Amino acid sequence: MSENEFEKIKEILLERKKQILKNIDDNSKEIDGLKVAEASDDADHATISADTAIEEALNVKQQKELKEIEYALFKIANGSYGICEMCEEPIGEARLEVKPQAKYCIVCREIVEKRA
Ligand SMILES: [Zn+2]
Repeated sequence: MSENEFEKIKEILLERKKQILKNIDDNSKEIDGLKVAEASDDADHATISADTAIEEALNVKQQKELKEIEYALFKIANGSYGICEMCEEPIGEARLEVKPQAKYCIVCREIVEKRA
């Protein structure tokens, strides 16, 4: 992968990271709001609990992606980025542009998904 390509991917990752942090922040505020509503007497508790659960699940998902992105940034820094962790072949640039936090090439990804 060329130096420019690395810079481009890094940019995508940092941008995504910023977006996720904002999403988590927004979600957390939403959850707080729901919890305040839940504490009031005339609230529809069942609906609010369901909404809170959805927002919390969303946050868990975002945090997982955030970790993947931070891991990818770490790999860029130590020079192991863009190499499949399973077969150690380079992951295609087209794939990395779509999913910059990818750890496996397309072939290995399928194997991992089938195993899961
Ligand atoms: Zn592979």
